Amino acid sequence: MQEQTRKERPVSLVDIFLKARELEREGKDVIHFDAGEPDFDPPEQVMSATINAIRAGRGRYTESGGIPEARRAISEHIARKIRVEIATNQIVVTAGGRLALYYAFASLPKNSKIGIISPDWPAYKDLARFIGHQVQFFETRLEDGWDIDVDQIRNSDCNAIVLNYPNNPTGKILEDSVIRDLVQIASEKKMTVVSDEVYSDYVFGKKHFRSILETTGLHYILVTSLSKSYAMTGYRAAYLVSDEKTIQHIGRMNSMIMTSAPEFVQYAIVAALSCEEYVKEKAELIKKRRDVAASALKERLGAELYSPDGALYVFPKLHSGRSFDSERFALELLEKKFVSVSPGTAFGSWYKEHVRMTLLQDEKRIEEGIERMAQLIE
Ligand code: PLP
Repeated sequence: MQEQTRKERPVSLVDIFLKARELEREGKDVIHFDAGEPDFDPPEQVMSATINAIRAGRGRYTESGGIPEARRAISEHIARKIRVEIATNQIVVTAGGRLALYYAFASLPKNSKIGIISPDWPAYKDLARFIGHQVQFFETRLEDGWDIDVDQIRNSDCNAIVLNYPNNPTGKILEDSVIRDLVQIASEKKMTVVSDEVYSDYVFGKKHFRSILETTGLHYILVTSLSKSYAMTGYRAAYLVSDEKTIQHIGRMNSMIMTSAPEFVQYAIVAALSCEEYVKEKAELIKKRRDVAASALKERLGAELYSPDGALYVFPKLHSGRSFDSERFALELLEKKFVSVSPGTAFGSWYKEHVRMTLLQDEKRIEEGIERMAQLIE
């Protein structure tokens, strides 16, 4: 099912990433504002737990939903972080947030209509369509502080909706009152809420919506991974939380597709979930980078920006008023100034004046990258 309102083949995040790699191979000093991959190492405990697990022979098949130690550690982590009791049979451990999302969408009725709030991480629509669902986009705008119009959702015929707060790419976190309205609409309309909480550890102080697990009376599937919070992108470590019946179904899918998540990665999850100080430090680090990026973007580029409440990105609007093509800009910026940003259109055709920039390098490099952007625009 194709969407009429969106161009299908914008310059993708992968196009930019590959082009940047090619320039680097030619010896160019590329400043990366592209891939959402932490520039720091996982916690020391995670690395040693992984190696120790491998040495102890823990490289075997496991229970399809995850080893009891990992599911218990996840349940205890949720109890500490969100103050909600989740039973271990409401949890499935799997290999990465992307696969977890695939399972979440695949567990919905055939030919579902999935609501996606734009700007959106492109994998949502790609996965939903790959599975054979329809998608409906709900546009949000910088001018409205990236707030959503809940009436649009109320009036839609979606049977599921994806929430991603803190958001990639805007950094927005919804107000509690908006979440409450959404939850009420979702329960009245029997919509499943798929809540992607991969950035939930990167929050910058504001009192915020913490997790869909804090709500009641609705069918939810929480998807999260350890990729961002613990710099474990290549470990492919993730989990889903839902009601027992949904989790049983998702556990069966996990069993059919991959038997189980790798055993030593599950031990790495157990180690990671006790690294609370590490997580706090990294959130603090990203917050400082956000401040540096926000002021440089405003001062040097005159950009319009919502200062992110969380996550790892900024999504500035570079040139309002006159026509600005973020795809052309991203390619030119990379070729002439060796700075890689993702064009706003990768997150929805409405965002051609925006670019997404990651906050995953030190402050000096962030400032230098923005300086090079200013030189191209001037
Ligand atoms: N959800 C969002 C919003 C993301 O940005 C990403 C990765 O960039 C993921 C999920 C999945 O990450 P992973 O598959 O590494 O767990």
